[in-house]
Amino acid sequence: MEDCIFCKIISGDIPSDKIYEDDKVIAFRDIHPQAPVHFLVVPKTHVKSAAEITAENSDEVARCFEVISKLAKQEKLGDGFRVINNCGENAGQTVPHIHFHVLAGRALGGTLV
Ligand code: AMP
Repeated sequence: MEDCIFCKIISGDIPSDKIYEDDKVIAFRDIHPQAPVHFLVVPKTHVKSAAEITAENSDEVARCFEVISKLAKQEKLGDGFRVINNCGENAGQTVPHIHFHVLAGRALGGTLV
């Protein structure tokens, strides 16, 4: 997608603080961190949101969770972490390319879930 900021990060057209990449998934630190550790795990295929996961693209989404588990070890998140996906306007999704926030490094509290 030409005007998608995460597609531009994936293609290398704009820089990111990348912590992981394989053939299906990239992970980079959030530019506006909301916890001491805050990174995004993003499938390389442009899927707009969790509402658009299908049998054709779900393997990339599944790989995201495999990568989250790997990065939790790499980033030493043994005290716990939270995975968040915002889907659509009411959920506050601002970048229309599916991504999973991983937050950690402090007690995150019990609001919402
Ligand atoms: P969401 O609101 O769930 O769509 O999350 C989008 C996230 O992308 C926000 O937390 C932003 O801070 C983050 N973000 C936007 N642009 C960049 C960028 N160039 N590099 C890293 N993170 C970004």
